[in-house]
Amino acid sequence: MPPPLTKLHAITVKTSLVAANRHSSRAAMRRSSYVAQAVSYLLDVAILFLYYLAGTTTIGTPIIYLVLGITWTAVTLCLSELSFNDRFKDHYLTVPQSIGSISILLFAVYLAPEIGFYFVCINFIVLGFGALRMSAWQTALVWTYSTVGLTILFLVTDKPIAMPMVTWTDRALALACFVTATGRCAFTGLYGSAMREMLYKRGNELRDAHARIEELAQIDELTGTLNRRYIMKALNDEMSRAQRSLIPCSVAIIDLDFFKSINDRFGHPVGDEVLRTFAFSLSANIRNIDQLGRYGGEEFLLILPGTAKDKAQLTVDRLRAIFAALDWATISDGMALTFSAGVCQVRENDTADDLLARIDKALYRAKDAGRNCVVGA
Ligand code: GH3
Ligand code: MG
Ligand code: MG
Repeated sequence: MPPPLTKLHAITVKTSLVAANRHSSRAAMRRSSYVAQAVSYLLDVAILFLYYLAGTTTIGTPIIYLVLGITWTAVTLCLSELSFNDRFKDHYLTVPQSIGSISILLFAVYLAPEIGFYFVCINFIVLGFGALRMSAWQTALVWTYSTVGLTILFLVTDKPIAMPMVTWTDRALALACFVTATGRCAFTGLYGSAMREMLYKRGNELRDAHARIEELAQIDELTGTLNRRYIMKALNDEMSRAQRSLIPCSVAIIDLDFFKSINDRFGHPVGDEVLRTFAFSLSANIRNIDQLGRYGGEEFLLILPGTAKDKAQLTVDRLRAIFAALDWATISDGMALTFSAGVCQVRENDTADDLLARIDKALYRAKDAGRNCVVGA
């Protein structure tokens, strides 16, 4: 029999699923960059082939360049598909990738110096594209590698690195080289700005998600009012504000009457629906600055900033009348619901406990007085 799925086990399974998903989406992102690289090599080969047809270079140049370029792309693609890349922080492996491509270019200059300018030109694209993903020191490393290679080719060997410009065909092909190379440079720039745009969008999404999490952390799931932790924080904040500014602030505890019997007679789901309706009807009838939160099972805390006790008592009594007048006939004929409340004004030296104890006493008096009423302390 398989062992039972413990919570830790379940979390581990979930975490590995998330990691697997991330790996496959990264591999898909890399795949498109390998396709772009292969297309770029094929474009180079086409131009080299035209140089061969023009008699400027031998057939070996496009063939060797094709074999090297496609083999290098295939090897790196295979490593990527086998998830080798995911072991590294830069999963594109930009440094080895750039060094590999530059090595091919340096070798091509050595092999076909008669059109060496073209490979030197492509070197710009490789470095520019790589720099989009590399850190400063990585870019410096790759640039140094390219510089050493070019220095050897230019100064140590006597290869006649050239840009043929004798015939009209030479000039047309040189033009094609520059136009396709600058096109790829422009593409690299566009790619960079798309990456920046995506980062900006992700940043915004992250900020929205964070705001949503904050909001959810404040809300009671059943009633949509503030949860206990948050309404207690709000109570402390409003009390300090009132005590600092000497502007009155009143607080009420509202408790549904005979709620237990609603659960007993109609079941817990109906009780939940009553709680939701209660929260909805109160929230719709208070000001924006008032705060309603679930203090306990069927007890709610209502904070009324800028309101003295008498006014607060009238306000809560108005809410009581609205709630008592609700029609519950869809649930059961003759079903009626009311609440009782205790209301107090914040005093200068009150702590939250002092205030809540006084409100509780007022609430008990309201219950003792027969319920469906509001008592001020
Ligand atoms: P009283 O008028 O004296 O307040 O009577 P009461 O029955 O409302 O008093 P009491 O505080 O003893 O009962 C509260 C009941 O509220 C008990 C509990 O079953 C119910 N309750 C607490 N939380 C929930 C909830 O989330 N959903 C439902 N349906 N019932 C709840
Ligand atoms: Mg209660
Ligand atoms: Mg009650």
